Amino acid sequence: MSNDCSQIADNLARVQARIAAAAIRSGRTSADVTLVAVTKYVDIDAAKAMIDAGSLDLGESRPQELWRKAEAIAHKDLHWHFIGHLQRNKVRRTLPHIALLHACDSVRRLAEVDRVSGELGLEMKTLLEVNISGDESKHGFKPEEMASVIEALGQYEHVSVTGLMGMASLTGDTDSARRDFERLRQLRDSLQSQTPNGISLDELSMGMSRDFEQAIEEGATIVRVGSTLFEDIER
Ligand SMILES: *Cc1c(COP(=O)(O)O)cnc(C)c1O
Repeated sequence: MSNDCSQIADNLARVQARIAAAAIRSGRTSADVTLVAVTKYVDIDAAKAMIDAGSLDLGESRPQELWRKAEAIAHKDLHWHFIGHLQRNKVRRTLPHIALLHACDSVRRLAEVDRVSGELGLEMKTLLEVNISGDESKHGFKPEEMASVIEALGQYEHVSVTGLMGMASLTGDTDSARRDFERLRQLRDSLQSQTPNGISLDELSMGMSRDFEQAIEEGATIVRVGSTLFEDIER
């Protein structure tokens, strides 16, 4: 495990340096970009090593795996991000663990998260997932339905929508990823003037191991990186 700890610390330092360089290319600094370390491929010890290395934002895409890790790792400054598709029957047990829900992908789910958050006494921050690439297999709102979704956000009392989340096409190269990210940013910019009072779509969660630099150059404020952060460790 000690080798893994230093490997994980090295990996984190390398990714942070690449984030800082990409942020500067986009006229910002690394303080403007949150790195979510996605722990879905690794065990609890590796997740703890990532915390020790200095990352206090961790992400999971499966509810059971989030519950297992969150319940095993007690740390008051840790922020869990739920980045996957959240099924209706997993909402109640998931929300209390997380600081941000990245991928709310339907009006029904938004209403459900609002209702359950109210019952649990939570103020839940969430992003809306947009299917920017149009891949059939992907979850998310269609870009053309976003204006009406955004206009109706004022009705939710316990959910606070703070931005958009998206993924580049699985089949494309980094140039096509860049165009997908650019489209998400442009969509956000055009929706920003239509939000109800008090709602601002400041966050853009986009970019993974293979394309986080392109995402930052196109305006990402949150990147979700897994495999690159945990490469070359023993499992
Ligand atoms: C797994 C996952 C990531 C991280 O993917 P890597 O390619 O391993 O960096 C990011 N976002 C979502 C939604 C994921 O499911």
